[in-house]
Order: sequence, then structure tokens, then C-alpha cells
Amino acid sequence: MKGYAMLKIGESGWIEKDTPACGPLDAIVKPLAVAICTSDVHTLWEGAIGDRHNMILGHEASAEVVEVGSEVKDFKPGDRVLIPAITPDWNSLEAQAGYSMHSGGMLAGWKFSNFKDGVFSEYFHVNDADGNLALMPEGMDPADACILSDMVPTGFHAVELADVQLGDTVLVIGIGPVGLMSVAGAALRGASRIIAVGTRPVCIEAAKGYGATDFISYKDGPIDEQVMELTGGKGVDRVCIAGGTVETFEPAVKALKPGGKIGNVNYLGSGDYINIPRVEWGVGMGHKDIRGGLMPGGRLRMEKLSSLVTAGRLDLHPECTHVFHGWDHLEEALFLMRDKPADLIKPVVVID
Ligand code: NDP
Ligand code: ZN
Repeated sequence: MKGYAMLKIGESGWIEKDTPACGPLDAIVKPLAVAICTSDVHTLWEGAIGDRHNMILGHEASAEVVEVGSEVKDFKPGDRVLIPAITPDWNSLEAQAGYSMHSGGMLAGWKFSNFKDGVFSEYFHVNDADGNLALMPEGMDPADACILSDMVPTGFHAVELADVQLGDTVLVIGIGPVGLMSVAGAALRGASRIIAVGTRPVCIEAAKGYGATDFISYKDGPIDEQVMELTGGKGVDRVCIAGGTVETFEPAVKALKPGGKIGNVNYLGSGDYINIPRVEWGVGMGHKDIRGGLMPGGRLRMEKLSSLVTAGRLDLHPECTHVFHGWDHLEEALFLMRDKPADLIKPVVVID
């Protein structure tokens, strides 16, 4: 089969590989659509997870099942499925402890294009099929379905980590495709005011649609100062971080009220340390929680999140600004995600 791979840091291209083998609990699937992620950009061009050789990229896809293992009960060839970007081993001790995303070691629930070949190929392997696949709802667009792989569960996980409550004022730092889902998740959880940080006009428009009430630009001065001005010096109850750098924790802590919580899902691709401002962190006693996490993955989450779409409570369509058709456009879509033109939210490639 052919797959689009990271050859080494900074170099990518199409390669030939054997079709993966199906173990008793696994499935082999073929993509209906794949989406490019900013994490692919971090992996390939920044070497954020270290060097990888001839590793097929990609972790966001919707697919059709072509083969299942002898122990798989709930899926069969021909099923159209949702696949989470994080596919834990559900019988691991870490999953039993409630941290499925770290099954087998820190971040090891993230397997595609990290510990094994990813989804930018004619076929790919899904471990623990009964635990990680979910049936794609009837009538769902395969391009929209890709957004359920990572953007929805990750953006919503920032909201979970920040523990957004009814009536909260929430700051969402970064409104790319991930942060937009944090805006949507905060609105679903009953935030009263959502202050969004970003500059791309297409993202600002989409954020309005998802429930953002105020906008600030990180290019117009320190984020915390702008937040304080907007909130009359009070600050915010919760912060979701889905963009920025290791430096972003400083304004996040400064903008947060005592007792507030920060939920980070941003992938910190560079820098050795995160600066936490001592005084605004209450000299160590401010009850300002900083939580960062990889989303949990798995079937139940896919089923629940997709039910929000079928119930009409979450519209994924605004996320897919650039929809291509055919593998021939994959590289173009990947380069687009690296270059982030002003009209881009998410590039998706439908495999017709
Ligand atoms: P984008 O690059 O599309 O969006 C990033 C957002 O952050 C944009 O709104 C951008 O603004 C804003 N931003 C850029 N620089 C700063 C800054 N210095 N301060 C504040 N805001 C800034 O990224 P994605 O939405 O695709 O992904 C967001 C992050 O989440 C990435 O790091 C990605 O790797 C990570 N991620 C994490 C996952 C997880 O499981 N934890 C899964 C998937 C992604 P502008 O409008 O100017 O572009
Ligand atoms: Zn992703």
C-alpha cells in the first residue's frame, strides 16, 4: 500500500509499505476522509516528538472497516466508522486508573504517527477495535466526521480540564480548529461570557458562531492586561489554552481569578520550562490550578460527541474550510496547514 510518511525531520513523501496485519482484537480500515492537524506540522517540521523515519503521518480520519480480528464483537467489514486520534489499550492499568490516554506510558495512547504508522495511507490499523471505533452516524459527512477524531474531543477536553461551570467567564487562548471547539464546549457547558484570543478573521467569525462574546488579539499587547480591561479588573473564572507557547501560561495565570482553573491542550513543541508568575500565582497559595492533558480517546467518547452533532447541538461544518478530493491533494493540504493562510481553519482530504 502507499502512505504519506515523515522520512526524517523536515522531509516527507509517499512511500510503499506492507498492509498492516490484523490481530485478534484489531481492525484494518481504509480512510473515507483524513484531516491534517497542527500536530502533524509540529511532528514533521519541528521534530516535536523526536526524529521518525518512514513513519506514515496523520491521526485524524473517518474510515470503512475492511477486516476485523477474531475477537472483535461489534464491528464488521463495510461498517463506516469514527476513529479517535487517541486509541488506548483499554485493559491497561493506566486506563483502569482513569488515564486511558497514558495507557502503556505517558502519552502512549497516542499511537497514530507517534508509535506506529498513521492514517495517511490506503489502509491503517486500529488497536482494540471494540474499545476504539464507533459507528459513524447515518448521513454524516465523512469530512465532518474527521473533526470528531481530534478537534472536538481535544477542544472539549480543555473545557473539562478547566472545569467550566454555569455562568463562568471563560478565556479561550487560541481559536484555531482546536480552540474553536473549546469555545463551543464552554458554551455548551453554560459559560456566560467567552473571551476568545486569535487574529485570523475566518476563526473569529467561526468563534462568534460557536458562542464567543468578546475578542482580543495577542498582537495588541499582553493578553492579561486586555482581559483585565474587559472584565473591569476582575479576571476570568476559567482559561482554556489551545494556542500560543510556553510563554502563554504567564498571561493565563495573571488573567485568572483565585480559585480559577486553566485547562491546557496546546502541544508545547519547544522550550524547556514554563514560567508561572510567582506573585499572581498567589505566591504559591492562589488556588489557581494549571491542568494539561491529552484527550482520553475511545469509543464511548466518540459515540457521545457524535450524538451532539446528530442532535443538532454542534455543527462541524464551519471547521472544514478547505475540502480536497483524492490522495493527490494530501501534500497540498499538509503544506497549507503549515502555512496557515488567513482563510484556513482545517484542511480535509476526502478519499473518493
Ligand atoms: P492553530 O495554529 O490553527 O491555532 C492556534 C491559535 O492560537 C490561533 O488562534 C492563533 O492565532 C493563536 N495563537 C498563535 N500564537 C499565539 C500566541 N503567542 N498567543 C496566543 N494565541 C496565539 O492550531 P490548532 O487549533 O490546530 O491546534 C492548537 C494546538 O493544539 C496546537 O499546538 C496543536 O498541536 C495542539 N493539539 C493538541 C492536541 C492534544 O491532544 N492535546 C490534539 C490536537 C492539537 P491566529 O489567529 O493569529 O493564528
Ligand atoms: Zn490532531
